[in-house]
Amino acid sequence: MKVTFPHLGNTYICVKSILDDIGIDYVIPPFNNKRALELGTRYSPEMVCLPLKINIGNYIQAYEMGADTILMAGGCGPCRFGYYSQLHMEILKDAGFNMEVITLEGTDIMDLLSRIRSVVPGASELMKLPSVLLRAVEIAKRSDEIEMLAFRTRARESERGATDRIYNGFREKALRTAGTKNILKLLDETEAMLKSVHLDPDADPLKVGIVGEIYTGIEHFASFDIQHRLGRLGVEVDRKVTVSNWIIEHMLKKPLHLPRDMAFAEAAKPWLGAMIGGHAQETVGNAAIYAKSGYDGVIQIFPFSCMPEIVAESLLPSVERDLDIPVLTLIIDEMTGEAGYMTRIEAFIDMLEGRRENLERRKAHGMRKGKKAHDNIHA
Ligand code: SF4
Repeated sequence: MKVTFPHLGNTYICVKSILDDIGIDYVIPPFNNKRALELGTRYSPEMVCLPLKINIGNYIQAYEMGADTILMAGGCGPCRFGYYSQLHMEILKDAGFNMEVITLEGTDIMDLLSRIRSVVPGASELMKLPSVLLRAVEIAKRSDEIEMLAFRTRARESERGATDRIYNGFREKALRTAGTKNILKLLDETEAMLKSVHLDPDADPLKVGIVGEIYTGIEHFASFDIQHRLGRLGVEVDRKVTVSNWIIEHMLKKPLHLPRDMAFAEAAKPWLGAMIGGHAQETVGNAAIYAKSGYDGVIQIFPFSCMPEIVAESLLPSVERDLDIPVLTLIIDEMTGEAGYMTRIEAFIDMLEGRRENLERRKAHGMRKGKKAHDNIHA
């Protein structure tokens, strides 16, 4: 058995380190690329969502490298992700790629454990599994923290490109680093390097919250690398939907029936009071949280035809109006043109800069008026 798995941001770091520790042979598909998208588009039904198409491209590229078994996370609820694994199997079978799909998510913990057991080679590896999985969760958390740290330093760095050099180097080095313990060391080194990046002391970057469908938020290829590009334009981004959050909240706490962090659901209540599938409730709730935390704007990104995000998109103008925060929505599919997309982003950023200057001018004017009134009273 030679397993593979789809790309989703830095998830490969976490998954490969588990497979290294328990001695499972694996293939990592090439990082997401144009060919993966073309292959996925060729073999998938036209109207399925973009993440599924890129996943299919990953599997075919991994198949070409010798993979025969796919490990993927599963899901349930009112969106298409719940039947992704079945669709993957059917599409690959029809296209003549003989691959088995193992879905790692059960509705209860025993189901999840029995699926994990089916890929672990022997009893001694099974014994190692709990400590390996604990370190893997730590890796997922630390990888996300590194990404968020890079979002902050990129927008403030004195030397343009310093953060990218460290961050891209980390992703490459992770491919050649085996096992959870070594990956944790690599994360320590990367964090120290990012913290040593020289920052412009006068930098006061615009702050933009990224919301939307999880795949297009996390997987940079699927959104033309928007979060890094914004950083290079001197904009600090933040994203609350992360891989570690998904693992902890959905894959661990949910089957164990542990209390989950539902701050987004509370924040979304005035506009969306129910879970409607995908990350729609997170999109609306996190947009409201960003507005209340003083962010300059919010960008929603989602794949064309994503049902939950279409509902969220229809609610965001109300959040925009009620909480006075500009929102830009970007919808992506395999036909989206990069140049037009970047023009919209740059225009949005120009608008946010102008808005911030106006707000500051009005604030300064208000303070001057207040001081004048105060001086008159005490004259
Ligand atoms: S959230 Fe949207 S893009 Fe993701 S699987 Fe569901 S419908 Fe497709």
